[in-house]
Amino acid sequence: MKGLIFSVKKYSIHDGPGIRVTFFLKGCPLNCKWCHNPEGISPFTETVMQTNRVGDREFSNDKVVGKYYSVDEVLEILDKDKVFMDQSKGGVTFSGGEPMLQFEFLLEALKACKENGYHTAVDTSGYSSSESYKSIIPFTDLFLFDIKHIDEVSHIESTGVSNYGILDNYRLLLECGKHIMVRIPVIPGINDDPDHLERLKHFLISTKTDSLKKINLLPFHKIGSSKYKKFNIPYKMGNTEPPDREEMQILKEFFLETGIKVKIGG
Ligand code: SF4
Repeated sequence: MKGLIFSVKKYSIHDGPGIRVTFFLKGCPLNCKWCHNPEGISPFTETVMQTNRVGDREFSNDKVVGKYYSVDEVLEILDKDKVFMDQSKGGVTFSGGEPMLQFEFLLEALKACKENGYHTAVDTSGYSSSESYKSIIPFTDLFLFDIKHIDEVSHIESTGVSNYGILDNYRLLLECGKHIMVRIPVIPGINDDPDHLERLKHFLISTKTDSLKKINLLPFHKIGSSKYKKFNIPYKMGNTEPPDREEMQILKEFFLETGIKVKIGG
């Protein structure tokens, strides 16, 4: 069993507690207008042209995005950084794309990581079957769960899929007793209007259990926009500017009214 991974990030401090190794699994059933990782959307390997600069000269070459890893190879990577993870109470995070799209590999990897004593986190859009979530719950210590839009029609417009099952899976995980951090991307013009924010806050309050540990507000940024051309995907955010620090601070205060810790960023 192998999984297709497009990036391995070591010494990550934004994907769960402590120092972590984050594996980004390729493939996502959503198509969010603002996606910061468009290279993670296709479930296949892709070849792109990459340009490197040495002094004032530029060199171009093909780069294959996506590489197959066995679970043993994942463990080998983790073993090299085990000391940092142990000392910082960190662990391993499976992100994407949408890691649940490679469910069988994810399940096997999570089991192996737990058997080897690692703290495990899954960063998910919530878009998979509830049966699949039930299967990984015993081997997952923390869920990083995205809530992008509370209104179904707007969710379909901005991500391509309904949020109906996503919100059901969120409720399911809140009842399972594992820790959850909700991640809210803050996307100007898409989910930052006062009416939506009020509904979202109400939803978080009305569904809250002890499992919900933190809300992460992830401001839209344009860093990923140059990747779109490389991957031949139309960039849909036009000239949208990121929210400024003051706006994010106001939002932080707003979501603190849920009674949950709030952090700007991952
Ligand atoms: S769920 Fe995440 S990876 Fe998938 S399209 Fe949306 S932002 Fe991109």
